[in-house]
Amino acid sequence: MKIHEYQAKELFRKYNIPVPEGQVAFTPDEAVQVAQILKTKDNRYVVKAQIHAGGRGKGGGVKVVDSLDGVREAAKQIIGMQLVTHQTGPEGKKVKSVLVEEASSIARELYISIVLDRATARPVIMASQDGGMDIEEVAEKNPERIIKEFIHPVIGLQPYQARKIAYALNIPAEGMKDALKLITNLYKVFIEADCAMVEINPLVVTTDNRVFALDAKVDFDSNALFRHPDIVSYRDLDEEDPLEVEASRYNLNYIKLEGNVGCLVNGAGLAMATMDIIKQYGAAPANFLDVGGSATDEALENAFRILLSDETVEVVFINIFGGILRCDKLAEGVVKAARKLEMRLPLVIRMKGTNVDLGKQILADSGIQYAVEETLEAAASKVASFLKQPVA
Ligand code: ADP
Ligand code: MG
Repeated sequence: MKIHEYQAKELFRKYNIPVPEGQVAFTPDEAVQVAQILKTKDNRYVVKAQIHAGGRGKGGGVKVVDSLDGVREAAKQIIGMQLVTHQTGPEGKKVKSVLVEEASSIARELYISIVLDRATARPVIMASQDGGMDIEEVAEKNPERIIKEFIHPVIGLQPYQARKIAYALNIPAEGMKDALKLITNLYKVFIEADCAMVEINPLVVTTDNRVFALDAKVDFDSNALFRHPDIVSYRDLDEEDPLEVEASRYNLNYIKLEGNVGCLVNGAGLAMATMDIIKQYGAAPANFLDVGGSATDEALENAFRILLSDETVEVVFINIFGGILRCDKLAEGVVKAARKLEMRLPLVIRMKGTNVDLGKQILADSGIQYAVEETLEAAASKVASFLKQPVA
């Protein structure tokens, strides 16, 4: 689960990670009020679009101004705009709020982040002197400019490791204490808040040698959110895909994709294989959906409803391996849901496993329209044949 920058900074403050003074505002008037409270010495402020995507600076979503009128103007321009960045996709994201902050006198922009490294099964701290820009580009062109420090999950971050990172970032002596505190506390947030990622880009050194987080990005492990009711309250449903939000209400593992084949599968591995094979047959999945090994009638109906409410779906493909979810139970669920939702789209079903013959009988007796196929290849090819415009 992602959160906004202003929320991430709120969390950082709780962990004593230095961030600029600032507050969120939902209207230009509020933005001016925030700026008045900030009372910066030089009257310089930054107005920053709050969306769940990076690259806002380049997209025109971050403005540095030098008066209260400037704050109002910037907030007017940014709130309500459809902000397009390299992370939003071409349609962009509508901005609902801005973070108004004191502007900092930046001497250097650095980078630091923590993610879980799957290969070593350890958290890894990544840091670079090339902050502020696309870290992906640095990783591609100058990978040696990113240092990595792997943390033992039981022992935790050791002081020498924090120092190693700070030295690699060439932190000036005056800022060293701040930097070490920041690195130590960043690791603490990562662990205690069950984060999937924390990222500060840029981490800045100011002209007077202070060190702090100018940007803040936090992504939480959704499977651990039950432990953090305070963090769940940060969730902004407007930033998420409406169909995904709906699916999450029924504990369905659903991810919206760009194709037009609605896939209903049990088991994440089979769901991935299903997407691969239909792609191979010239079709593309409209979604990833794993209804789980023990899906109930209700879950199936909700899954069906979500697939059908997706306007891009032209064909529905059900691919089930009957294990805990037996094929007859599935067939009953499908028939019920197809009737109730008055399903009109072509439906391709492939089932294997427990009670498959009974399942097929139930489908055959139901009177609903569908095509049933034995093999995954035949089913995928059938699916593609129903598409208005096969991809390949
Ligand atoms: P994004 O990563 O979405 O582009 P950032 O928060 O990193 O947004 O801001 C982009 C750039 O804007 C930063 O690299 C920095 O140069 C400038 N900036 C952001 N916040 C401030 C601030 N408080 N004071 C001065 N400059 C800022
Ligand atoms: Mg940034």
